[in-house]
Amino acid sequence: MPKPKNPEFIKVKNSSEEYRPSRIFCVGANYRKHVVEMGLPGREKPFFFMKPRESLVQGKENEELVIEYPENCKNLEHELELVLLIGNSGSNISDEQAMRYVHGVGVGLDMTRRDLQKILREKKQPWEISKAFEQSAPIGNFRKICELEKDLCFDMCLTVNGVIRQRGNTKEMIFSMREIISNLSKYFYLVPGDLIFTGTPQGVATVSKGDKLVAVIDQLPSLCINVV
Ligand code: MN
Repeated sequence: MPKPKNPEFIKVKNSSEEYRPSRIFCVGANYRKHVVEMGLPGREKPFFFMKPRESLVQGKENEELVIEYPENCKNLEHELELVLLIGNSGSNISDEQAMRYVHGVGVGLDMTRRDLQKILREKKQPWEISKAFEQSAPIGNFRKICELEKDLCFDMCLTVNGVIRQRGNTKEMIFSMREIISNLSKYFYLVPGDLIFTGTPQGVATVSKGDKLVAVIDQLPSLCINVV
């Protein structure tokens, strides 16, 4: 098992502010075609799970990030996701105010041990060992939200060894970024440094040792990963 090399601060381009990573919240099943491919039921509210800070690794721009394939894993899958970096504190945030709490936006991968998750789901047991392991939350460099186009509709694409696996657009989210933040803030007092993984579009698939993953979301620094 790799010794975690977790970032002390989250890198945000052109930002003088420094954010220590706090909690990592993840939204499950937030794109319709992904819900269909996983055979999951639809729902009225977003659902959340968490990863620990120790699962976080941040790539440098134009440099490959090396992550290790988990020991004894039979199926590791990639989930390409837009990640929000919270910059202001608050709870019970309204949909209208929600985006004011976001400082930065970045590319992330919710790496998932699907072999374990399938079993845990069937047994109705918690997910942690399939979602919260070391290096399961790689992220790229962030950009300040004020530098991005206001509608935040970004094309997203993930290639593995040059072959396109996942393709989508953030406008296909079932629960919008605003709804995610307002919902989450009913249960948690959000603080600067909190990260929110907003769900993955369709096309999740298996990753092998030696694979090179390139995660691209428009207007954001991309994330290149080498799995060893
Ligand atoms: Mn996910």
